Amino acid sequence: MRERAHRVIPGGIYGHNMDKFLWPGAPQFWSRAHGALIWDADGKEYVDLMCSWGPIVHGHNHPVVEAAAATQRHLMDTANGPGEIFVELAELLVGIVSYADWAVFAKSGTDVTTLALMLARAATGRRTVLVARRSFHGTAPWCNPRDTGTTPGDRAHIAYFEYNDPTSLHAAAAAHSGDVAAVILTPHSHPAAYTQEEVREDFARGVRRLCDTLGACLILDEVRTGFRVSFGSSWDHLGIRPDLSCWSKAIANGYPVSALLGTESLRDAARQVYIGGTFWTSAVPMAAAVACITLLQESDGVATMAATGQRIVDGIRGQAESTGIDIVMSGPPAMPYIEFRDDDDPTVAKRWAAAVAERGVYLNPTHNWFISTALDEQHVDRVLDATAGAFDTLLHRRLG
Ligand code: PMP
Repeated sequence: MRERAHRVIPGGIYGHNMDKFLWPGAPQFWSRAHGALIWDADGKEYVDLMCSWGPIVHGHNHPVVEAAAATQRHLMDTANGPGEIFVELAELLVGIVSYADWAVFAKSGTDVTTLALMLARAATGRRTVLVARRSFHGTAPWCNPRDTGTTPGDRAHIAYFEYNDPTSLHAAAAAHSGDVAAVILTPHSHPAAYTQEEVREDFARGVRRLCDTLGACLILDEVRTGFRVSFGSSWDHLGIRPDLSCWSKAIANGYPVSALLGTESLRDAARQVYIGGTFWTSAVPMAAAVACITLLQESDGVATMAATGQRIVDGIRGQAESTGIDIVMSGPPAMPYIEFRDDDDPTVAKRWAAAVAERGVYLNPTHNWFISTALDEQHVDRVLDATAGAFDTLLHRRLG
């Protein structure tokens, strides 16, 4: 597969699946997925702790979501315009997300973070957007993690601050005084390959206050957290309401749809900006989204994911402690991340992930994992057997 791909796809593979992020020999191509299990191109079975990098919340091919998608597919999918499901999904999201008065839909997280910037600029007539350094908001030129192929102009009106650091936030705002259209940030800090950090409450309040003082928009990027870490806004527990928010990954259990939600004050801007894409009103992903979110609500899926994730995190922490291996696990239990102390590259994390994979569990050494509701007790036992075995492998290597 790799050789064939290299001939017809530049680099063979892109994004998270590039060789440099994985361990030598890591599976990069997949043949099948069902529930909590996935099979690589060679047919090897794994318990899935990556969940397609976030979209899968109920397990792969969940019958309720698939039935809703199939019913809609039988009627229509991509048509000349949206179906009733377009309004139904908007009503559902507006009903669940406390501050939202309207929704618009697209396909990817990048689509809606980019749209959020356009709406903020349309509403304020200003240019500058403040972005937390290292935060991932997608692959468009304004936020692509690499500079290659972008021009300085693409980021001319992007200014950076450090997450959880009010001094750097205010300095970035002051440097662009009179021109700040928005601040965009994730509900907690979760850049790939870095320790995750809870948002500090005073910092979150400071962001809201700054936006109010400047008349700028607060954009919350919930693409990774939404409907996995919280059911509804991830900042509800703080009582802080953004003006715009971006949703995608977990809303449709693997079907491609994203949503930009906003408050009444941004409705006009959303009417003025030209929004659209050929597939942006496709009905099947929206039917999947309604089924996915309704099922999460009925089954209290977010609580299940948190409990399952906690069992895995506690188990791994205990194993590391008893083998004397120094690790840090960070992030909410439904999207945990592991780091090994003094691990540049990270060599040890990759070695550990490879040993875990050999034992039939797929996770990633440089990115947070994603927990689904499909993981039952037996799956968790399999995960913890594999991680324990992998710690032993590290220990023997070290002693040997
Ligand atoms: N924002 C965040 C927080 C993300 O995690 C991602 C994807 N990892 C995106 C935006 C971009 O989403 P997409 O890959 O669907 O464009």
